[in-house]
Amino acid sequence: MKNLLLFLFLLAVGIVSAQDTYIQCGKVLDVESGKMLSEKTIVVSGGKIKSIVNGYVSGTEGDKVIDLRSKTILPGFIDMHVHIESESSPSRYLERFTMNEADVALQSTIYAKRTLMAGFTTVRDLGGSGVNISLRNAINKGTVVGPRIFTAGKSLASTGGHADPTNGTRKDLMGDPGPKEGVVNSPEDGRKAVRQRYKEGADVIKITATGGVLSVAKSGQNPQFTIEEIKAITETADDYGMLTAAHAHGDEGMRRAILGGIKTIEHGTLMSEETMDLMIEHNTYMVPTISAGQEAARLAKIPNYLPAVVAKKALEIGPKLNATFAKAYKKGVNIAFGTDSGVSPHGDNGKEFVYMHKAGMPVIDAIRSATITNAKLLGLDKLGQLKEGYVADIVAVNDNPLKKVEALTDVVFVMKEGVVYKQ
Ligand SMILES: [Zn+2]
Repeated sequence: MKNLLLFLFLLAVGIVSAQDTYIQCGKVLDVESGKMLSEKTIVVSGGKIKSIVNGYVSGTEGDKVIDLRSKTILPGFIDMHVHIESESSPSRYLERFTMNEADVALQSTIYAKRTLMAGFTTVRDLGGSGVNISLRNAINKGTVVGPRIFTAGKSLASTGGHADPTNGTRKDLMGDPGPKEGVVNSPEDGRKAVRQRYKEGADVIKITATGGVLSVAKSGQNPQFTIEEIKAITETADDYGMLTAAHAHGDEGMRRAILGGIKTIEHGTLMSEETMDLMIEHNTYMVPTISAGQEAARLAKIPNYLPAVVAKKALEIGPKLNATFAKAYKKGVNIAFGTDSGVSPHGDNGKEFVYMHKAGMPVIDAIRSATITNAKLLGLDKLGQLKEGYVADIVAVNDNPLKKVEALTDVVFVMKEGVVYKQ
C-alpha cells in the first residue's frame, strides 16, 4: 500500500512514467552497422524507444517485462509495394462486378492484420479502389488492426493502360473514365488526376508506365505515358509532397518514367543496362517485387486460374525479374524492398527476403532495404532502426537471419508504436 502511494505520488509529479515496457532481447540487429548485439534490454515508453541498455533489466514495479531472450530482434519491416484491398484468386477477375465496396473493405481488414502479423509494421499501398484510404484512416484511429499505411488510392493509367479501371470489359461498361477515375491522356489530365488523389486523401502517387501482367490486355510491357504526361504528374506530386512510383516492365516506359522524375520503379523486369545507369544517375530506386513474378508464373500454370491473355504474359515476364534484380543490384542501383503482395498472398511478404538473398543480395542489405532505405524514401526519419527516440516498431524471429534468411518468414513477436500485436 505504501509502495503504491509512493508510486502514485511519483507518477503525479512525473518522476516515473505510467508503464514502461522492458523488452529483454537475446540478440538485437543493429541494421545500420550490420552488427548483431547480444543481451540488451529495449525500454519502450509512450510508443517510442526510450533507451537500449546492456544486460537484462526489468524496471520497477508497474513496468511490463517481455522475455525475448531466445529471439533475434529487428526493427519492424516496411513494404513499399502492396495492394491491401485484394488477393489473387480464381474469381479475382469477376470480383469487380460482384463485390460491393463494403465487401472489399471487410476483406482488406483481414489482409491488413496478416501483413502486420508478418512483421510488416508499415506498407505503401500502390493502388486499389480507394478503400485503402479508409483502411489507413481506420488503422490510424485504432479501430482496425494493421500496418501503418501510405496509400496511392487509385493508380493512374492512360486509356486502356494497365490501371484503366474498365479495361477488358464489355463496351457498354467501358464508358470513358477520366482523371477523376485515374485515367490520364494529357499533361493537364495528369495534374488534375494528382490533385484529385490528393483531395481524396492519397499519400503517394502511382502510375502504370507500361503494360502489366495481370490486366486483361495484350501487352505487358509497352510504354503507356509520354514523358510530358509523366513530368506533369511528378511536378504536381512534388507540389503536394507526394512520393511517386511507376509500375514498369518494359525498358522504354521505365526510361521515360526516370526522365520524367519518378522516384521508384516498380518491378523493372526488362531493365536494360543503360536504364540501370540512368537509375543510378537520377537516384531512382528499384522495387523488385520478385514475389509477384514468382507467384504470377506459378498461377499461370494452374489451368483456368488466369485468363489466357494474362497467363501468357505471366509466363513470359514473371520469371525474368530475378535475373534483372541480380544485375541491377550488382551494378549499384538503389534497391527498395517491395513485394506486390495481393498478387502473392498477404502475410507472405517475408519471402521476398529469401528471393533477394537467393539472387545474390547479402541478407543484411535486404534487411536494410526493408528498413532504413524505405523509411528514408517515405520521409520517416524516426522509423526503420532500433535507436533511442525512434518509434517502437519492433519484431522478433527465432533464428539469426544473417545465418538463416528463412527466419524472416516466421516473425514471432510484433510491436507497433509500443503496442504488442503478436507474442
Ligand atoms: Zn502492384
